[in-house]
Amino acid sequence: MDMKMLIGGQFVDASDGKTQENRNPATGELIGTVPAATKEDIDRAVANAVKGQKEWSRVPLYRRIEIFDKFRELLAANRRKVAEMMCREGGKLIGDALGEVDITGYVFRVFGEGARNHYGLTLTQGIEPRIEKDIVFTRNEPLGVVACIVPFNFPAELYAHKVAPALITGNAVIVKSASDTPMADIMFTELLVQAGVPGNAAQIVTGSGAKIGDWLTQDPRVDAISLTGSTEVGAHIMATAAKHVPHVYLELGGNDPLIVCEDCGDLDAAVQDSLDGRVYNAGQTCCASKRFLVHNSLLDAYTKKLVKALTGLRVGDPSKPETQMGPVISERAAKDVIGQVEATVAAGAKCLLGGKRNGAFVEPTVLAGVTRAMPVAGQLEIFGPVFPVIGFDTVEEAIEIANGSPYGLHAGVRTASMKTAMKFATELQCGCVVIGGSGNYRSAHQAFGGYKQTGVGREGVGYTLNEFTQTKTVALRSILD
Ligand code: NAD
Repeated sequence: MDMKMLIGGQFVDASDGKTQENRNPATGELIGTVPAATKEDIDRAVANAVKGQKEWSRVPLYRRIEIFDKFRELLAANRRKVAEMMCREGGKLIGDALGEVDITGYVFRVFGEGARNHYGLTLTQGIEPRIEKDIVFTRNEPLGVVACIVPFNFPAELYAHKVAPALITGNAVIVKSASDTPMADIMFTELLVQAGVPGNAAQIVTGSGAKIGDWLTQDPRVDAISLTGSTEVGAHIMATAAKHVPHVYLELGGNDPLIVCEDCGDLDAAVQDSLDGRVYNAGQTCCASKRFLVHNSLLDAYTKKLVKALTGLRVGDPSKPETQMGPVISERAAKDVIGQVEATVAAGAKCLLGGKRNGAFVEPTVLAGVTRAMPVAGQLEIFGPVFPVIGFDTVEEAIEIANGSPYGLHAGVRTASMKTAMKFATELQCGCVVIGGSGNYRSAHQAFGGYKQTGVGREGVGYTLNEFTQTKTVALRSILD
């Protein structure tokens, strides 16, 4: 099944006819190809978007919301088809893929609702002597053309968190899907155009991330860039796009801790949190728990229970409903994960479970004896089902270890003490602290984003509408007697 890009409302090949393969990570089967866009294709898409944005921004908000409603209807009608593609191209469990399609519809709904209440402000009358006869108010205006760069791990939900707020506020979008998961994103874009978004306002391009990414982000006609991806790519975009000063929003890497305190109470629940935080999506979630900080008095018991809970996990075909964990995104990614595990073992950690792979399937892996000095305790993000367990003695020490990373997305904390919980909540340097559960947590309404090298900006209904608009002040001089 070969698919094409959507440029200017038309399904098109690359201008030189070149394509890129899309393979199923679970089986290695060739699903089909997508175009490998050329510079000429990207130039055309950006020129279209400039025109499309003018057309789309003239569509009244209530009508844009009706178009979103139609999109959600079409999405519901195509729910299984899209989810099956996400399962095939991304190795996502079919149940999780269906759930993600539903979340996608929900995200479009709530950004539509939020946009109705995205008001401007009026200055309090008579605030200063010079302007007492003026009326001064603001308008929220679109930025223009927004490049939405989506990662492989949540091709639907993260597509929605960029495209929905950008479109509803009157911007045009050009989506650059991840090279490993382009097909579901092409389907979403087709449904948006079918629902009534002009073909020049919603486009999708496919091909090499590095090439297309650079062409798109360095084009001065692109007014904003919203990337979810690795810190490496985010830093590159920030540096190279700087020449034309676009708005740059970055949701990047993480190495989130799950902290199990001495007074955690129910250790089985803490082990379940660990699984919830790390088995989901085969450990490839930005806000997954990636370091397991456990009080030294509980370390042995926790580790034994964790190994037991992971032993016998049903790893396999993601299209079967009984499977509990599928593959990672590719064999190449699985090799990287195993390389990181081996490096951690070489640094002194002990592998108590797993540590091997079969194709793109990585065994659930438990690493004990991990110390603060090891890269995995700080800057090394492992994107797979790996559980590095680190002991600590005091709450202060746990906070120090947790903060000893260049990243700061989420954290989960298990403690029975409200005081301890609040100490973590105030002292952890991260975008969200979950008390009583795993940090693998996201609501469409919360401020989602990170501290430090996890990025710039926040996604969420109360936030992205502001980020994708600019405020214009209008002053009506001497309008009042
Ligand atoms: P990646 O950085 O390799 O790719 C992300 C996207 O950027 C892809 O679409 C890719 O094609 C594109 N890209 C690559 N080079 C580019 C360039 N030079 N210019 C512009 N775009 C370019 O990341 P990935 O492997 O797809 O995703 C995994 C990473 O994403 C992890 O680090 C994970 O933590 C992070 N992530 C963060 C969040 C968050 O919200 N903070 C959410 C999900 C994933």
